[in-house]
Amino acid sequence: MRLEDLVGQERTVSVLRNALCRERVAHAYLFTGPESVGKSTAAALFAQALNCEDTGHGLPCGACRSCRLTSGGRHPDVRVVGIGSDAEGRRRTEISIDQIRQNPRKPRQAPLPLIQDAYLKPAIGRHKVYVISPADRLTAEAGNALLKLLEEPPPHVVLLLVTSEPSTLLPTVVSRCQEVVFQLAGSGAIENHLIGLGLSEAAAASLARLSGGRIAWAIRAAERPEVLRVRDALLNLCAAIGERSVPESLRLAEDIKWQAAELARARISHGGEELAVEAGSDPQEEHAVGDRELREELPWCLDIMVSWYRDLLAGGQDAPLLNPDYEQALTRQYRPHFTARAECAVESILEAKHALQRNANIDIALESLTLSLVAWCG
Ligand SMILES: [Zn+2]
Repeated sequence: MRLEDLVGQERTVSVLRNALCRERVAHAYLFTGPESVGKSTAAALFAQALNCEDTGHGLPCGACRSCRLTSGGRHPDVRVVGIGSDAEGRRRTEISIDQIRQNPRKPRQAPLPLIQDAYLKPAIGRHKVYVISPADRLTAEAGNALLKLLEEPPPHVVLLLVTSEPSTLLPTVVSRCQEVVFQLAGSGAIENHLIGLGLSEAAAASLARLSGGRIAWAIRAAERPEVLRVRDALLNLCAAIGERSVPESLRLAEDIKWQAAELARARISHGGEELAVEAGSDPQEEHAVGDRELREELPWCLDIMVSWYRDLLAGGQDAPLLNPDYEQALTRQYRPHFTARAECAVESILEAKHALQRNANIDIALESLTLSLVAWCG
């Protein structure tokens, strides 16, 4: 995503631009708001603008040496700390203390630990910038280590913490950051933006409605046809629970895994995500769809399934649907007495999602979800 893709965030962007133009940049920002509204894109652009050589506009020029180094993930003064993988190549589930305080890699190729690095003067830029995303995955220990830096930050340091779940952060960390809130965009604004990207009016209108105000979701769906295909497959799976035989329904775990693998395969063939640049990590390192790739795609798949049951819950209340194109199938499954079951289904799916974030075994988490769903909805 680019600056012009930050649809619906005009006010937020102008706050950040003003800070840059007036040279009144805070030492720490907390970028919050719903998933897929452009927080990571904004953090990447702000990091770029902080060291851009063409100053004064409050926007990164995108062309100077510093901007090019930042967008390529090679700027010595800009570091992205994400979940990443450990020294053995295993996918982490959280941002741990060793990423903040100790050497994250083998000594020879290791960048300095964040806390030590922060006290050095910038190598070539005006600021040393650390993007921590998703900040809600900082362990308490890592959060406390970061707190020391937030309490007395060196003058050149800017920390950008990105999260859609600020309530899970240490309150002492939150209180030391300037909060920048990102909003859901209006469906009309998303529709116009998609038309600008070359979509037909009908396709743009339909994606804008499905996006629920999340511009990054809409752009992802517009650029990657498999996103809509997988969404359809997952919604059809939800629609069929209760219509299929019990042995068929029990295949649900395999089916969900298969759809997540579809997304992962397509993403790998598209060359990966844009802001997955963690210092020292090699974006080329893995190509097969393994446990790690599945874990990246499964949360989104489970969110789609949650949207189905939220629509069933909304059915009794005449609220706008998250999946308006499935109204007929939803009506078929809807029963007035279904509310409690739909609530239980949402709980079970969210439970599976959290278990996977805590690194639970994928097969066990999905099979236990399947049993709950068949029990509740069968
Ligand atoms: Zn520049």
